[in-house]
Amino acid sequence: MRSFTQELGDLANKVSGEVVADEDLVSPYATDASGISSTPWAVLRVGTPRDVELAVRWAAPLGVPVVARGAGTGLAGECVPIAGGLVVDFSTMNRVLDVNKEDRLATVEPGVVNKWLNDELKTAGLFFPPNPGSWETSTIGGNISTNAAGPRSYKYGSTKNWVASVEVVTGRGETLRLGTKSRKSSSGLDLLHLIVGSEGTLGLITQATLRLSPVPERRLGVIVPISSIQQALQALLILGKTPSLEVSAIEFIDEVCVKCLNTYEGKKLPETGGALLMEVESTDEGFEKTMEHIYGTLSSIKLPAESLVDENVDSMWVTRGRVTYSLQRRYGPRHREDLAVPLSRFPDLVRGLREMLAPLDVEPVLFGHAGDGNIHLEFDHLKLGEAEFSNLRRRMYELAVSMGGTISGEHGIGVLKRGYMDIEHSKAELALMREIKAVFDPHNILNPGKDFC
Ligand SMILES: Cc1cc2nc3c(=O)[nH]c(=O)nc-3n(C[C@H](O)[C@H](O)[C@H](O)COP(=O)(O)OP(=O)(O)OC[C@H]3O[C@@H](n4cnc5c(N)ncnc54)[C@H](O)[C@@H]3O)c2cc1C
Repeated sequence: MRSFTQELGDLANKVSGEVVADEDLVSPYATDASGISSTPWAVLRVGTPRDVELAVRWAAPLGVPVVARGAGTGLAGECVPIAGGLVVDFSTMNRVLDVNKEDRLATVEPGVVNKWLNDELKTAGLFFPPNPGSWETSTIGGNISTNAAGPRSYKYGSTKNWVASVEVVTGRGETLRLGTKSRKSSSGLDLLHLIVGSEGTLGLITQATLRLSPVPERRLGVIVPISSIQQALQALLILGKTPSLEVSAIEFIDEVCVKCLNTYEGKKLPETGGALLMEVESTDEGFEKTMEHIYGTLSSIKLPAESLVDENVDSMWVTRGRVTYSLQRRYGPRHREDLAVPLSRFPDLVRGLREMLAPLDVEPVLFGHAGDGNIHLEFDHLKLGEAEFSNLRRRMYELAVSMGGTISGEHGIGVLKRGYMDIEHSKAELALMREIKAVFDPHNILNPGKDFC
């Protein structure tokens, strides 16, 4: 019988990319931003799309798990090789292949970082709207596979709205081109959108064509201090409905986040309570009017007179991006949730979560993409026993789902939420997901141990 090392040697001889198996070279691939860890047996640093086909065809008869990896910023352990196997590192395939200004399309390799793409698009006056907090490091392949979202999803929706087509290698070792560059299509089943959000369980993306949007003439960042969470929630509902304002993002941070930003990041935000961070788009010509509308709307809902209008939207997003890091400095690693509900139920969700956590000594902190009804809730899970923690999570997920919401607004299921899918999906639905998985990946080698696998 041949050893794994011999088999791996065969793969290394076939592909143009690099295959490594030394412990010190594979160990960095054991974890992602979730902290969940499992070391792969080997890593392929992809050279060309053909390498991916060869790797899957090599792995299938051997039953070797194949796990795609972008930048490893996932928060649910999606790219952690929980069953061992071969990690396919796409960060080496990172070119923007084409930008078509007329059709507003960009064709990219999957390892291109979201920020690099947007930097390259600036000269064409276009941008790729999904902007997860990790946009400076996360890859387009990862964004597609997790259906990532971000603050601007309030106006523009999540990644799935911006993917025109993908080239994908299935678990059968076949390359498929799914989707179309045309703006519409009524042709057959929509297999493209099975791939989006499938966390590398149905196929490995080797190329993507993305839809783009024109960059607005002006973007204003507005930081609005609020005195209570109730006031923030009321403001949120009114701001979102103001037709004269082109609001592209509404974020919420609570009073603990504000304090941590001031303490650890040297910010000078008023400590009246929490804050709303809004991005408003305008034309050059309509700028003055937009400012008037913003002030008018804020004072009509009696927000504090010292409400800030910060014209430098980039610096506002840097501030927002530092929330996670400042919380980490204050508390160390903690459990983070990612629940989403329809906007009208967002106040009820926040109230319900606060009530659930109040009797526990876990120091909860709330922030997130409030405009999307998507809350990130952090708390000290280490103060809870295992059963108590699991029971609490179940109750939180049941609350969100009972409001018509979801157990994951954007971070995905990965390893972290695998045991809770039954709260949102019926047995029949989960069985159908497994059947679809078996069609794309009959040998169950693509990212096994995740989701519905
Ligand atoms: C500070 C911070 C802020 C964040 N903010 C947000 C946020 O606002 N919104 C949000 O949605 N997420 C956020 N995230 C989570 C994470 O950044 C996203 O899920 C991101 O899309 C992951 O991209 P990645 O390149 O790191 O993918 P990875 O973590 O490497 O992989 C994620 C999943 O994609 C699969 N995958 C990667 N490349 C491919 C490919 N080529 N083909 C098939 N499958 C592939 C992997 O197998 C895995 O299942 C944040 C994370 C951090 C650390």
